[in-house]
Amino acid sequence: MNRYHRSSRVIGLVLLITLLLVGCSENDRPLEAPVRFEGAIFGTFYQVTVTDPLTQGEANALEEGFLEELESVDQAMSTYRDDAELMVFNETPLNEWQPLSNELIEVLAISRSVSEESSGAFDITVGGLVNLWSFGPEARPEVVPSETELNERLATVGYDAIDVDTQAMQARRTRDVFADLSAVAKGHATDRVAAYLDQQGVEHYLVNLGGDLISRGYRDPETQESWRVGIEVPHTGPQQAQHILPLENMSVATSGDYRNYFEEDGKRYSHTIDPRTGRPVNNRLASVSVFHPSNAWADAWATALTVTGSDAGMQLALEHDLNALLLIKSEEGQWQSLGTPAFINYFGDALVEELGIDAWEDPSATRQTATGE
Ligand code: ADP
Ligand code: MG
Repeated sequence: MNRYHRSSRVIGLVLLITLLLVGCSENDRPLEAPVRFEGAIFGTFYQVTVTDPLTQGEANALEEGFLEELESVDQAMSTYRDDAELMVFNETPLNEWQPLSNELIEVLAISRSVSEESSGAFDITVGGLVNLWSFGPEARPEVVPSETELNERLATVGYDAIDVDTQAMQARRTRDVFADLSAVAKGHATDRVAAYLDQQGVEHYLVNLGGDLISRGYRDPETQESWRVGIEVPHTGPQQAQHILPLENMSVATSGDYRNYFEEDGKRYSHTIDPRTGRPVNNRLASVSVFHPSNAWADAWATALTVTGSDAGMQLALEHDLNALLLIKSEEGQWQSLGTPAFINYFGDALVEELGIDAWEDPSATRQTATGE
């Protein structure tokens, strides 16, 4: 070997070691807490904040890992991908059981329960109507559809046309319905990111996926300061918090008519459809936030209560012991904040009073007392 070769080898080796060392030290570099990851996904945003001590290398690995989880939810449940597992299921022959992934079965089963418990206010087979009203993948113009079109699609709605067998991990369509999991998939995805972070041993984090949140541990582990969530003022203007609540090992999902809608002749058409009428919901309920350990359940219930409206929604929340905060529009263009009994119990009288949230009075209970007197 000549001298030239030898020296270039040495230089190469030195360069390699230097690169490795720089690489290592970059990966080992401790990051200042909180570490925040953010970006766009599913036509919305994600924001994951971690207050555990992390190195750059650990942070990179975590981000890669939870993005993989999100990608897998999208591959299973997006209505914008023809090859998504759900879209393939939507084309399957009627009455034939289809083996499906655990996660799709889980979300279909949650949907079925919330549909039954809300007497069909929540119904994933509104997909055809969602499309008709321009809120789906069909890319239709934002106009009010004709009665004929509406009735045609209304005839295709019915959650009972999807059977789910959680033992054998299979499902089937008994009529030609189109399942759209948009009202629960985001919540499920939030749960999945949380489960991934738990599995990686992360103890303090807040996941925010397009306004669906879940927390663990503390915003400041040293002082044990809680994570907090801002419940938005339900208007179309810039984001502003109406109430700020602590979120301790808990999740919350908010549904409202003030973000995703179109307007025609001054009337607002929201993306939540009442499966009973086939039309966008139009009631005094401006926003519903449901607190639940599982964000998929919170998300589905928030949509269900949005459909039922304030009075029926409150009755439903009471029946199912739901921890929920409802913002109800008043005549004067203001809103009243009403907490369910489970909400008041969970956050405590003092905080609820301080925030100006009213306790819901059950009119039927008042009537009973009145007759008893
Ligand atoms: P929000 O952000 O208001 O909570 P979600 O994103 O949870 O709304 O759900 C809204 C989506 O759910 C709609 O875009 C539509 O695809 C679907 N959807 C609309 N109405 C219903 C309903 N009654 N039951 C189930 N899903 C619905
Ligand atoms: Mg929802």
